[in-house]
Amino acid sequence: MPIIKKIVEIFTEQGGSSYVGEPVTQLEHAIQAALAARRHQARPEMVAAALLHDIGHFLHHYSEDCADFAIDSEHEKAGEAFLREHFKEEVAELVRHHVNAKRYLTATNEKYANNLTGASFKSLQLQGGPMQPHEVEEFEAHPLFQDILLLRRWDEGAKIPNKTLPPITDFLSELKMVLR
Ligand code: FE
Repeated sequence: MPIIKKIVEIFTEQGGSSYVGEPVTQLEHAIQAALAARRHQARPEMVAAALLHDIGHFLHHYSEDCADFAIDSEHEKAGEAFLREHFKEEVAELVRHHVNAKRYLTATNEKYANNLTGASFKSLQLQGGPMQPHEVEEFEAHPLFQDILLLRRWDEGAKIPNKTLPPITDFLSELKMVLR
């Protein structure tokens, strides 16, 4: 299973980098999101998507502070393309839409919009800003709509500093279950 080995390697080598503008590392962020999925007794596809939703940050070639220079790294697309090769369609699809979920929620939920962190608000502008009404409608029709929103909530919640967390290898069973 070389791909799973590769993922562990990516997180081991690069996971210590900061989750731009937030008080956790990329690895902590990924694991906290995956634990939230488990807490919700979500299916393995969703646990895997939560764990890997930001893997695109390790795959694109922009600097991690590129938002400061008004560059959208489009990490969700890099992640999607990488995951689609190796994992079930659904995993890639959930990851692909996790940024859209933010665009959706900022358009439809005022409280959510007001509670975005500074870094997340800044990247939102580069990601296209809140959705337009026709985009909202289209998004709501996506078969995974509810799951995409759930993933987004786990993503937002996964920013708690100094938490004791299991190692990434704790999630290998779910990853193996959702390989293509
Ligand atoms: Fe994230």
